[in-house]
Amino acid sequence: MSTSRRKRAVLLFLSAIVSAAVVVTTQSVLFLVPLFLLTAVPLPVMLPIAGIVMVVSVGVGRFWKMVFGVRASVPIVVLLHLSFIWGFYVSVVRPVVSTVPDVIFHTECALLMVGLYSIVNGDPGFATASGFELEETGYSESNIHHNGGGSQFSRIRQCSSCKASVRGFDHHCHAFGNCIGEKNRLLFLILLIGFILTEASYTIFSFHYIKVFFNVSNYWLQRTISGNLVISTMLFSSIQVLWQVVFLMWHLYCVCFNIRTDEWVNWKRYPEFQLTIHKQELGENSNDIRFRNPYDKGLLSNIFDFLFTTTR
Ligand SMILES: [Zn+2]
Repeated sequence: MSTSRRKRAVLLFLSAIVSAAVVVTTQSVLFLVPLFLLTAVPLPVMLPIAGIVMVVSVGVGRFWKMVFGVRASVPIVVLLHLSFIWGFYVSVVRPVVSTVPDVIFHTECALLMVGLYSIVNGDPGFATASGFELEETGYSESNIHHNGGGSQFSRIRQCSSCKASVRGFDHHCHAFGNCIGEKNRLLFLILLIGFILTEASYTIFSFHYIKVFFNVSNYWLQRTISGNLVISTMLFSSIQVLWQVVFLMWHLYCVCFNIRTDEWVNWKRYPEFQLTIHKQELGENSNDIRFRNPYDKGLLSNIFDFLFTTTR
């Protein structure tokens, strides 16, 4: 093994340890929420408290970075959280779930693992041809692509996180450790829906579990490790579902109107989105630049393009 390869392997190993430390920290601090609050506050009130605790635990992640000198890998953190939820479901929650939902849940978790691997290692649509290099502004003459008699913009943008030029660039997804572009946008949306369904399923199952055992023994639920973990993992899944649904709504909007997140945020950097209106007020001429989306072909065409066209 060459020195650089060995160095990369050591860094990956350290990053995996930091990621594991982040996951253990997050699940541990969430575990404390029902332990101290269950008899004092009802479950819905615990949700915002758990949200704040999770944000704080993200800050604690910086402490692990200081200890080990390397950052956590967010895709590994996602993988470990998913594995933890799946493993805990199998060992504790599963007995209260009937066969069909149980099989569906296992399938969802397995597919998410495969999908996660594919999107982390997949090509989002990197533009490698020398003619498609971008300037710092994200736009250059080479960004216009000639098609038959006319020309149209190729929608190649530069990702500021990985400095790569990506066709149909939407955003850099830290959770999946990759750019989201023309080639993996559909997979990204499928995975997002998959995560929401899996976490929502787990929330329902664990809530059912809590209902069953809360009636039997409140004391048991609060004073055992597994009882507390059922509640803390349910809070974790609920919070994930809440922010991911908002995220999904945004991406569905982008699909319906054929616009990318990067374009929506940085439209003033891309000339094709700028409509110049000449105004004359009090004898003075001025230009007003307004937003217009040249790619919006109507709802059905936009959805069709998203599902079936790779070059947009
Ligand atoms: Zn990127």
